[in-house]
Order: sequence, then structure tokens, then C-alpha cells
Amino acid sequence: MRELKVTTQEAERASYPVFLGSGLDEVFAQWLRDNGPWGRVALISDERVARVHANHWQIMLAAAGLSVVTLTFPAGEASKTRNTKAQLEDDLLAKGLGRDSLIVGLGGGVTLDLAGFVAATYMRGLPFVSLPTTTLAMVDSAIGGKTGVDTERGKNLIGAFHPPRAVFADIAHLETLPEPVYLAGFAEAVKHGLIASARHFENLERAAAGLLARDSQALESVLAESVAIKVSFVEKDLRESNARKALNFGHTFGHALERLSGWQLSHGEAVARGLLAECRISRHLHLFSRANEKRLQQLLARFKFVQEPFGHLEPELTPEPRGRLALSAYLQATGSDKKARGGKVEYVLLAAIGEVARGGENGDSWTRPVADDTIRAALWQTW
Ligand code: NAD
Repeated sequence: MRELKVTTQEAERASYPVFLGSGLDEVFAQWLRDNGPWGRVALISDERVARVHANHWQIMLAAAGLSVVTLTFPAGEASKTRNTKAQLEDDLLAKGLGRDSLIVGLGGGVTLDLAGFVAATYMRGLPFVSLPTTTLAMVDSAIGGKTGVDTERGKNLIGAFHPPRAVFADIAHLETLPEPVYLAGFAEAVKHGLIASARHFENLERAAAGLLARDSQALESVLAESVAIKVSFVEKDLRESNARKALNFGHTFGHALERLSGWQLSHGEAVARGLLAECRISRHLHLFSRANEKRLQQLLARFKFVQEPFGHLEPELTPEPRGRLALSAYLQATGSDKKARGGKVEYVLLAAIGEVARGGENGDSWTRPVADDTIRAALWQTW
């Protein structure tokens, strides 16, 4: 078992531990004893996760002497809405949960975003504990305190910063994940290697077979490294206000593609394609080498990601003729992205595996503006 600490603000209250390992019941029980007393506990989970994992935690929380109320909602991104949040809040009110309650989110990123947002506003804010159950949630959503819901106009547009009091990432949860969901989280882990640590990237290359077999030792060591990188960027943001932007690497392209595919592409698949696309933009600008791009392609292949940014998409998104359609739609999609400034879209670019190519006059910016023509030329050459 590993324990990491996240310090998000000067206030000690905002620092929280992240426990990662197999079988964390006793650690969680001890944490509850040390940090209580608690009133009632609301365990919030989607229906699919609740079917397989809620019972275990209900028993554990009851054994710790707590009164537990379990609330569920239908699985999937479509549930990450204000309506579901209101429904959960109404259920909490109906069951009489008061200010001394604790909210526990058990699930993937959708559940944690939703349950965390409920915790941020219910009774003007309740403490929140995160039990991530997907690889993506362990290395990404559970860390950093971002919570929120989607609207018709886009993802994560309504939300709050509400850091958890503690995160318990129990690797045993990952055994029940369908393979595509299990693998999706590795796109974020690869991203962490690309932006911050050549060693992490190498470890992912070395451990790929064990990770595919869900070997718990390989998982614990690689996920802990990935969590530590996410933590370091979340903490850096305290001092350097734009460091966290590096975490967007692969996401400008990824988000645009996710939207263009009508949300048919999973977040992980879209990000994997985004990593490749944005490495190609970096290479086109003579920042990143061809050999490194090849290594990325090979690593993404190990995790069964498609190795072409626009590969295997629906006909209306495939490059026909030679990318014209997909590229213009893509450029339009990124133009409306939150990161667009003055007609040019800001990209995080790479200088090497493990190193962001810094921009700005003093090299203090984590992003650089890239003209549409450059993107067109960089992505064009991939077909
Ligand atoms: P998810 O929560 O929808 O989980 C994916 C699927 O796996 C769901 O069907 C779920 O029911 C199922 N599942 C989860 N755990 C399981 C388990 N252990 N066994 C069996 N099935 C299980 O999605 P996700 O991929 O974990 O997360 C995506 C969401 O995370 C997006 O909404 C994204 O916006 C958000 N996100 C948030 C942050 C943040 O900083 N807050 C960061 C990254 C992503």
C-alpha cells in the first residue's frame, strides 16, 4: 500500500491523503476513526458499480459503526447532469442527512464528479471521500478537487472545486472493469509520462504486459507514479498559476474529437489519439523527434489504442478526400474550445518524452499558440 499527500491550499484542511493498494478496508476504517465523529454516511454510486461493489463498502462502513444510506443513479456520462444532482440532493433531504454527514463517492469519474459536486453544495458543503473504481478515476478524476456536471452546451461547464478529505484507490476494484474501460485510463498515465517523466514512460513500456494482465504489483507501482505526477501538477498550480495546463496535453485534440464523434469515442480513446496528434504538431514545429513519436505509437498499441488520430472513425469523420473534411471540422471544434485565444488555439507541446516545450517570452508558459495552418500541415502528413 502506498500513501501520497496532496497539498492544495495553504490551509491544512485542504490537504488530503491518497491511499493506493489492494484491500484498503482497514486503512479506511482507521481514517474514519481518526477523523470522526461522523453522523450518517451517504454512499453514492452508479447502478452498475453499486451492483458489484457497494455491498462490500456498506458492510465495512456499518462495521465501523456508521449508519449508511446508499444512493444510485444510472451508469454513464448521460447521468452527469444537474437533474441527477438534484435527484440525489432530494433523496438526501428526504432521508434527513444533516450537516454532520459524510458523502462517499464510489465509482468512476462520472460518479466522483457528481458525488463530489453534491458534497460541494449540499447544506453549503459536506466532507467528501473518494473511492475511485476505474483506472482513469484513480490516476486522474479523484485527484485535484474538480467536481461538476455536463450541460447541453458542453462537458463540465457547471461545477466547483471541492477537494476530497481522502482518496482510497483500491486496486481490487479494477478486476471487474470491462477491458476497454480498464485500458482507457492508461491514456492519462501515458500522458503523465509524456509531460513530466521519461522514467514513468519507460516503466509503462516495461510493465505493459503485467498491466494488461491486471497484475496488482505492476498496477500499484505504475498507478502510484502516475498519481504522484498528477499531484505534483495540482500542487504546482498553487505557485505557478498555469502549470496545471500541462495536464491538458492531448486534450485539445481529444475533446474536439470526442465531441465530433457524438461522444461515441470513449474519453480514453479520444485522449490517446490526442496525444499522438499533439506529438505530431510538436514534431512539425521541430520540437519533438520522430523516434519519440514512434515510441509513443508503440506504447499506445500495447494498450490497444488506435494509432492514427483519425483512424477507424465513422465515414463522415474520416479523411475524405485526404483529411479535408475531418480537419476543417476538427479545427472548427477546437476554435470553440475554452483554450482558444485571439484566433489561435493554445496547445501544450512537447520537447521530449517527459518534457513540455515551454512558451512565452520568458519560457514561463506551459502552452503555445498554434496557427490553424500549422495544425493542418502537421496532421495532413499523417495520411
Ligand atoms: P465512468 O464513471 O462512467 O465509468 C465507466 C464505466 O465503467 C461505467 O459504466 C461504470 O459503471 C463502469 N465501472 C466503473 N467502475 C467499475 C468497476 N470497478 N467494475 C465494473 N464496472 C465499473 O467513467 P470514467 O471513465 O471512470 O470517467 C470519465 C469521467 O471522468 C468523465 O465524465 C470525465 O469528465 C471525468 N473526469 C473528471 C476529471 C476531474 O478532474 N474531475 C478528470 C478526468 C475525467
